[in-house]
Amino acid sequence: MLFLTKFPKRNAWGKRFLIGEYLNNIWQSGLDLLFPSPALCSICGRKLSIGALLGLCQSCLEHMPWVGAVFCQLCGRPLAIRQRPSGEARCSDCTRTQHFFVRNRAIGIYTGSLKEQIQELKYRYNRQLGIDLGQIMGLVAKHRQWVPKTAHLLAVPLYAERLRQRGYNQAELLLDGLQDFLQVPALEPGTVIRRSATGASSHLGPRARRANLQGVFQVPRPGQVAGKVLCVIDDIYTTGATLDELTRTLLQAGAQEVYGLTLSIAVDEQDLLGHGPSFD
Ligand SMILES: [Zn+2]
Ligand SMILES: [Zn+2]
Repeated sequence: MLFLTKFPKRNAWGKRFLIGEYLNNIWQSGLDLLFPSPALCSICGRKLSIGALLGLCQSCLEHMPWVGAVFCQLCGRPLAIRQRPSGEARCSDCTRTQHFFVRNRAIGIYTGSLKEQIQELKYRYNRQLGIDLGQIMGLVAKHRQWVPKTAHLLAVPLYAERLRQRGYNQAELLLDGLQDFLQVPALEPGTVIRRSATGASSHLGPRARRANLQGVFQVPRPGQVAGKVLCVIDDIYTTGATLDELTRTLLQAGAQEVYGLTLSIAVDEQDLLGHGPSFD
């Protein structure tokens, strides 16, 4: 008897509580619709103005080391001196290396706050940041007409094991954000696969880095890239070894030509000091 009298009371109280919570939730979601809380900058957490198109605030955007007007016409690396009207500026790396891609363009320099954000994106699971940075890539690339109109976008693939560990491919997130501002079709993930992990290669010289990457990419169904102009999306361009090897594989599979667009590019001090670049 004791059980029968006590249990319904507890149950009734619980029900009232749940209904209260339910009504409260409806009221709250109504308020959220009327007065949506402002989005926050995905770097510093400041409130963004209502209707803001980008996920980063003005201050964070101003502190990014963007690539200026003077850069290597092949790889997009910033240069210190002005391009001669008669010739194409080249960075010291591109004067030594034969690239397979038509050209690469980079939005920012891999240093300071942009370097920090790329680390955050790759190693601290901040997916929204990837989309927000991709939007900036889309805006800049659209304004500077860096992606050919006929191109299909393609994110540099991660090795399957790395993808499982991280849970996402940062280049795919950049591509998703980019498409908010640049209406260019993209190839499905899996069009190109990465057959093995190449590991950290920052300690390797340019030649060893290239040897390390040879044969790492594969196009399982070449018909998906045959005859297409492709624009490869990645988070960083260092020596161009990754983009070159991917381009070589895509051209072998029948792609027409390959361009690159990266969020950042590593800078050679020599180029910024003005001793490196030469002109054709
Ligand atoms: Zn901010
Ligand atoms: Zn270059």
